[in-house]
Amino acid sequence: MNKKGHVLNAILLALGLGVILTIDPRTFEPTTDSAFLLVQKIGQLSLPVVLGALFPDVDTAFGKHRKTLHNLPVLIAFLVFPLVFDNLHFVWIGVATHYVLDMVGSKRGIALFYPLSPQEYDLPTGVATSSKYADAVTLLVTGAELGVLAGIHYYLFSLDVSLADAAASFTAIL
Ligand SMILES: [Zn+2]
Repeated sequence: MNKKGHVLNAILLALGLGVILTIDPRTFEPTTDSAFLLVQKIGQLSLPVVLGALFPDVDTAFGKHRKTLHNLPVLIAFLVFPLVFDNLHFVWIGVATHYVLDMVGSKRGIALFYPLSPQEYDLPTGVATSSKYADAVTLLVTGAELGVLAGIHYYLFSLDVSLADAAASFTAIL
């Protein structure tokens, strides 16, 4: 996916995630407080998520594209960084959604286990990044991501333990 697609995906994901985390449609009552919380959550998420979504394609200039910065060790580094330095929270969400969009939305895959293996993994979905359907596919992938996140948040477990804590429990599993 190109930069425009990644920024579009990241902005919409931050907006949608802000809504999911602050508004439960089953109990929602509009108040000034809930509006404030919503704006606060979207503000907190949007810049870090957009920055994270732009980061992996830096490997077009440094290293091998879709390999050097498109792999799980890089994502784990962004998950661990906030725990060690109390900084760069939520950037990992942008990196993760970049990987999803590259794997699901475009023709070429990414080398998830680089540098251990140069093999690129891809799903048989997706269109060429230059395709006139690229924006539509980006919107579809973003909608699907938000659907999965909303399903998890409303029916399985709360994601609002703060996504930084979610990162902590994820790294605890590893
Ligand atoms: Zn990429």
